[in-house]
Amino acid sequence: MDLYEKYNLKHVINADGKMTILGVSKVPDEVVAAQKLGDQNFFEMSDLLIQTGKYLANLVGSEDALVVNSASAGIAQTIAGIIGQGSEYHLYHPYTSRITKREVILPMGHDVDYGAPVDVMLQLAGAKMVPAGYANMCKPEHLEMQITDQTAAILYIKSHHTVQKSMLSIPQAIEVAHSHDLPLVLDAAAEEDLTKYLKIGADVVIYSGAKALEGPASGVIFGKSNYIKWARLQGHGMGRAMKIGKENIIGLTAAITKYLQDGPETGDSMIERLEPFVAELKKIPDFEVKVIQDAAGRQIYRAEVKPVGKLSAEQICDQLRNGKTAIYAREYRVNQGFIEFDIRAVDQSEMDQIVARLKEIVGGN
Ligand SMILES: *Cc1c(COP(=O)(O)O)cnc(C)c1O
Repeated sequence: MDLYEKYNLKHVINADGKMTILGVSKVPDEVVAAQKLGDQNFFEMSDLLIQTGKYLANLVGSEDALVVNSASAGIAQTIAGIIGQGSEYHLYHPYTSRITKREVILPMGHDVDYGAPVDVMLQLAGAKMVPAGYANMCKPEHLEMQITDQTAAILYIKSHHTVQKSMLSIPQAIEVAHSHDLPLVLDAAAEEDLTKYLKIGADVVIYSGAKALEGPASGVIFGKSNYIKWARLQGHGMGRAMKIGKENIIGLTAAITKYLQDGPETGDSMIERLEPFVAELKKIPDFEVKVIQDAAGRQIYRAEVKPVGKLSAEQICDQLRNGKTAIYAREYRVNQGFIEFDIRAVDQSEMDQIVARLKEIVGGN
């Protein structure tokens, strides 16, 4: 099967991370098998959503859950649900002026573009985004001062994309929300822990199916039953445009089951796999190489290369991407002169290819 040749596509080595632009994850065989079962059988679809939701909720200790087609859809359907509160009128008139309680407060440093801006999902949901705090800080009092009788919810984005410094914590945001009887909705799209945010009291927690969970393109929302019920109702309104297929509902359910059993690759295992790769990188002239931990403190370790020769980090990354096989390094810090290699989806032979290509590039061939 040379799909690549047939459609004139490039082979890709993904040393960037869980990147949507590269197809995010490699889905494990068990999950593909579950997707196949989903694809080749019939279900009462509304029952499929309800029962997989119950099953998943049970696994993580949530009141209920809903599989959706992406974390983005999860944000839009959750917020639309909170605005509509189960009203059929709202379902058919999602942007009606009859319903005015539409304000969603978001720390200003959380309005990030993760591939699409958070505030576009809020607009889709019919929410009016109310930023709290400033570009470089948000304290509990900044959130609190934005609450009015038109506030529907508080949204918090847990992500390396957001401003981290002088940012209130999730428990602080929960405390502000709950002291005003508001739900705290947490976008934890790329996070690895499926239970901790529910335990500390987040009302809805949203994950992307294809990132840490290594499932198919999908998303899942966990939380209090009313919010899940209202989000599910959106499937008969604007949520229809974000419909998820039966194969991916079953695929994600299998992926989460597997993920909870096996967990993600441990930090120790990553460090061990990095060792021979880093040893090879160190042999390349004018490279300063070390192993670094993820900036957001996750158990992810990466090889960091600082080229000090005549080619800049940027020039090297350009050449890596533009080779016969497109090699994507993690480029968040190239402007500071660092190239990172994230090996979560890279095997030994691909690491060898990266080293060979780097030698070619700095050797000037
Ligand atoms: C990736 C991401 C999303 C969107 O996830 P999709 O499943 O691709 O829609 C939302 N929020 C954050 C913080 C993300 O990193």
